[in-house]
Amino acid sequence: MTPRKNHAVSFSRSVDSMVDQALAVLKLDPGLAQAIKGCTAVLKVLFPVEIKGKIHVFTGWRALHSIHRLPAKGGIRYAPSVDQDDIEALAALMTYKCAIMDVPFGGSKGGLCIDPLKFERDDLERITRRFTRELVTRGFLSPAMNVSAPDLGTGQREMAWMADTYKHLNPEDINAIACVTGKPVHLGGVQGRLEATGRGLQYALREFFRYPEDVAATGMDGPMEGKRVVIQGLGNVGYHAAKFLSEEDGMKIIAVIERDGALINEKGLPVEALYQHLNQTGGVRNFPDARYVADGPSVLETACDILIPAALERVIHKDNAPRIRAKLVAEAANGPVTFEADRILKKRKIIVLPDTFLNAGGVVVSYFEWVRNLSHIRFGRMERRFEELRGHSIIRAIEEATSRKLPQKLCQQIVHGAGELDLVRSGLDDTMCQAFQKIKEVKERYQDKHTYRTASYIIAIEKIARAYLDAGIY
Ligand code: NAD
Repeated sequence: MTPRKNHAVSFSRSVDSMVDQALAVLKLDPGLAQAIKGCTAVLKVLFPVEIKGKIHVFTGWRALHSIHRLPAKGGIRYAPSVDQDDIEALAALMTYKCAIMDVPFGGSKGGLCIDPLKFERDDLERITRRFTRELVTRGFLSPAMNVSAPDLGTGQREMAWMADTYKHLNPEDINAIACVTGKPVHLGGVQGRLEATGRGLQYALREFFRYPEDVAATGMDGPMEGKRVVIQGLGNVGYHAAKFLSEEDGMKIIAVIERDGALINEKGLPVEALYQHLNQTGGVRNFPDARYVADGPSVLETACDILIPAALERVIHKDNAPRIRAKLVAEAANGPVTFEADRILKKRKIIVLPDTFLNAGGVVVSYFEWVRNLSHIRFGRMERRFEELRGHSIIRAIEEATSRKLPQKLCQQIVHGAGELDLVRSGLDDTMCQAFQKIKEVKERYQDKHTYRTASYIIAIEKIARAYLDAGIY
């Protein structure tokens, strides 16, 4: 289903209006505020590709929002509905997200107006390589200046093609593969990147549930276990989030909304089986033991504890916001709640955990991947064996001192040297927790007058403004 663009307010206006609320609190110089909010540069490209004897012309964009830190960072989206305004809004979100998460990047985003499901693999490869050439030759893709990643409609495969194309154009750039993140591990990717956004969401929710007062403000209480979740989009982000929350935290995924409709089962849907079904059939229809609803978007209004929009932007808007019956909206997608809807949800005391924090796991682990690529060594390679040997020494010392054998399981834990996945998950967990604590602290500094979203933007704007002023504006 091609999403309709019948919203009164554009995506970038919606983001700007949210940022304005933070600017009003900070009372920043209006010129500086304007400089922070606008995109520094936007590239639009039109290019032809011959497919099965027919010439197709494609339109793509890459928006560079902020370069107060370099490289600028942001994914590439393939969608038939994408336009320049979306890309500019998404690039802005990247700037704020990196600042909130303490990731030392500026913000960027790219998009190609295409329905990837309508093209065969080989054709997609040629289109991607051609688009990459357009970006590289104009300075909108490189390890030092502008680094891409997967987004809606793209994944590891597209990143591998992009990295390879950049490498062919720049054979002497020793850091070539760092021009994109989210690559397959055997081509320079980092372990844990594929799951990172869903994993980050899980860590963020775990941290949120550690504060009973924040949980109580939503109308929920107790642990994560048993909480009823509705999720829209079972792609990279939605699938991993749903899988981890249900399999590891005991949450119940009571509804999944996809392109072709939604499935509901109050007892909880089996995420892995549903994901396989979706991949095999291209939709959710005909999945056993669940009620199928053809009107997918209406299922966003299901009564639940947590609603996780993990597909598209602006799916919660002024028309359906009055009917949303979740206690917490967890923004896994970028911009799923419009500015107007955000105000309605606030009035209705429905708490929102904002995209710029909640889905930042992807860019956090992308940062780790970029660092790994620049250092040309796998995380943990130097330390792992050393840690294991030290673990053995500790066990020996304890057993000698106590004349008792330690349980086997404990021994295994002590001698386990951290591998790359352990380190990536640990770094991600710590970053998500620290970011939430900071957002909570700022929210409380203003006596909880503002939302988590405004508190996040306050943090971002303060950091970006400081960077602009310290570097000097000329
Ligand atoms: P994806 O292409 O892997 O998955 C998107 C899923 O949404 C697919 O299963 C698709 O079928 C479904 N979908 C598409 N249109 C839909 C509709 N109208 N109704 C219901 N479902 C629909 O994309 P993704 O990487 O999971 O990205 C999803 C969202 O998360 C986007 O907003 C993206 O910007 C954001 N995001 C992604 C990452 C990442 O690391 N991939 C990081 C941060 C934020």
